[in-house]
Amino acid sequence: MKLTDIFNKGKLTLSFEVFPPKNDTIFDSVKLATEKIAALSPAFVSVTYGAGGGTSKYTLEIAQNIQKQYGVPTLAHLTCISSNKQTVREKIKEIKDSGIENIMALRGDIPKEGISNPLDYTHAYELVEEIRREWGNEFCIGAACYPETHPESRNSSEDIAYLKEKVDAGVDFLTTQMFFDNPMFYSFMYRIREKGIVVPVIPGIMPITSVNQIQRVKALSGSYMPKKFIQLVDKFSSNPNAMKQAGIAYAIAQIIDLYANGIKNIHVYTMNNPEVAEKIISSLSDIINTEN
Ligand code: FAD
Repeated sequence: MKLTDIFNKGKLTLSFEVFPPKNDTIFDSVKLATEKIAALSPAFVSVTYGAGGGTSKYTLEIAQNIQKQYGVPTLAHLTCISSNKQTVREKIKEIKDSGIENIMALRGDIPKEGISNPLDYTHAYELVEEIRREWGNEFCIGAACYPETHPESRNSSEDIAYLKEKVDAGVDFLTTQMFFDNPMFYSFMYRIREKGIVVPVIPGIMPITSVNQIQRVKALSGSYMPKKFIQLVDKFSSNPNAMKQAGIAYAIAQIIDLYANGIKNIHVYTMNNPEVAEKIISSLSDIINTEN
């Protein structure tokens, strides 16, 4: 099923992101975690892809398993910066052959050790263009956006101008980088709609469940953490169970605020944690079911 068919129904949805195992040794445990997450019946599950090729091996296997065993539609991520045209073409064909109709078309982070020249791709819009050119409307194409501006961009106006070019190349929907401050997301929505970006935008919410995770998130995305979130961390960081409960409650409050403000489709970065995914989906069941 194409994700646009889900979004077009206009119902409230919750979807989850999982990541594939990095190596064979942990394959079974990661597969089991993703199965438990799929068994919660989210609207769809996205499966990430490693830019350097590290975790790319299992993206399709995990996605295909979820789709076949649980009937949950999946979104296969694909990055292009570390690949050549031939590898990317083969991957897209593999996605098609796996029965997956949704691709998250990404550039990927530029590897620290640099890239072997010549570059076949420099930005995600080239991948989007290629999928549309070669495959027409066979895939629903998603792409990434950054309410707090991509770290490589000089400013938000430039980032949004490039985002518009990417969407115009054939993107069906956007998913955001994680954020912890909803008003900042609403302001981003206003600015991109003003610039003529009209595709659905799915906010990505990351439940923070430990202090270590905060450091990683800060390093990875540099997301702004509002005062009420910092206060929560200050209060509960020395008690891991309390921190986890408070972090999940914060994510749930963010999601409820988004639904209340008219956002219908929300994506949760579950970090392969079925317990967190279960707590979130069960806390929202009445909201999702009665509103639909
Ligand atoms: P782009 O859209 O190419 O943008 C990258 C930068 O280039 C931006 O600053 C943009 O403004 C600029 N730019 C765009 N077009 C042009 C142009 N024509 N000329 C000059 N500058 C331009 N990474 C993974 O490795 N695997 C994953 O599975 C993965 N999933 C993700 C899912 C989501 C929802 C998000 C938000 C990110 C994900 N990432 C993933 C991280 C992502 O790959 C990085 O953030 C990467 O640095 C940028 O990817 P992009 O597709 O947004 O790139």
